[in-house]
Amino acid sequence: MNFDLIVRDATLPDGRKNLDVAVAGGRIAAVEPGIEAEAETVIDAGGRLLSPPFVDCHFHMDATLSLGLPRLNVSGTLLEGIALWGELKPQLTHEALAERALRYCDLAVAQGLLAVRSHVDVCDDRLLAVEALLDVKKKVKPYLDLQLVAFPQDGYFRSPNAAKNLERALDLGVDVVGGIPHFERTMADGAASVKALCEIAAQRGLMVDLHCDESDDPMSRHVETLAFEARRLGLGARATGSHLTSMHSMDNYYVSKLLPLMAESGMCAIANPLINLTLQGRHDSYPRRRGMTRVAEMRAQGIPVALGQDCVMDPWYGLGGADLLDVAHMAVHGAPMTSREAIRWTFEAVTEVPARIMGLDGYGLHVGAHADMVLLQAADPIEAVRLRATRLYVIRRGKVIAHTPAREAKLSLPGRPAKLDPASYAPKAAI
Ligand SMILES: [Zn+2]
Repeated sequence: MNFDLIVRDATLPDGRKNLDVAVAGGRIAAVEPGIEAEAETVIDAGGRLLSPPFVDCHFHMDATLSLGLPRLNVSGTLLEGIALWGELKPQLTHEALAERALRYCDLAVAQGLLAVRSHVDVCDDRLLAVEALLDVKKKVKPYLDLQLVAFPQDGYFRSPNAAKNLERALDLGVDVVGGIPHFERTMADGAASVKALCEIAAQRGLMVDLHCDESDDPMSRHVETLAFEARRLGLGARATGSHLTSMHSMDNYYVSKLLPLMAESGMCAIANPLINLTLQGRHDSYPRRRGMTRVAEMRAQGIPVALGQDCVMDPWYGLGGADLLDVAHMAVHGAPMTSREAIRWTFEAVTEVPARIMGLDGYGLHVGAHADMVLLQAADPIEAVRLRATRLYVIRRGKVIAHTPAREAKLSLPGRPAKLDPASYAPKAAI
């Protein structure tokens, strides 16, 4: 049999080695050692890591690459970021927003990031960002799965037309119900918004993903309401709480009661280490809180936890580069969680876990899955995180859509090697 593509001698994220992955008709047709067949395209992995694509399940594509428009965030806080975005909104045009989003998707593809859940602000009565990102979603479909969340950035109740606009956005084809309860005027309004938004998701048969408790307020209780509503309405894993940073500051007794409720509800959680390690704790002197949610503790309870990027060069975060390995790397430090098992898990938290949260169809490296893959300049997932490894080949439906040459340094040192592959430093003793 002839295949369209074969990747030879790959290591898979689950640790299996020396495997060939063969592709036919855009799907994975075989995963076996030493496949004896021809293919139009053959890639020699040389024992390196072949992974399904990276998945970012928390992002804001309407704001990305807008850094400096109309000005910079001086305080570095969430609230100034929201105010700044409010200043930019009236100046947005469909074309400029779509072009920024498309340009971001180019970068994402180069980094092996082929699925993104993006929140899109619905508080502008024109729904300009919604329409622009629905266009972008169609345009990028051949190479990137873009899932959109109707996000009332200025508050579902607090912003006068948000409730109506959110329903309009869903009618236009936005996939997921969003919200921001901690930005409502009172804790009671926040809780009421969680209930209303979960009911909309239940009625429409949609997923719900709420920005939840993204503050340093130890008394913020919206994830509790979300878990309760997810359980009451039977949403289960269709409900997700994003950020959850107040959990960092909560009383330990309260958390011991909260986490089992979350686990029972079946809901998912998304931590965004890059942004929250910089955004939170801004009102502290010292000691200064990190503000990252309790990732290890949620994992221990069996709650599905993914790691998201949230922002790249926008009113909230000036850095970032569509690099989900950067996100995993930062999570290891911010949590901190430095065991080999935990570092390996951070790789799952930017691939398989978010793919499940988004409900991606045909994701993975098994026979019958979509032939979407990334070959990394790394021996295994831990090495990929350590090195934030180069994406040598990015493959979509069996076709190479991005290629980056391997990183190699040329050395001029007396008696030392002439060139150096950073991935050759993979530890022999610690697996
Ligand atoms: Zn966000």
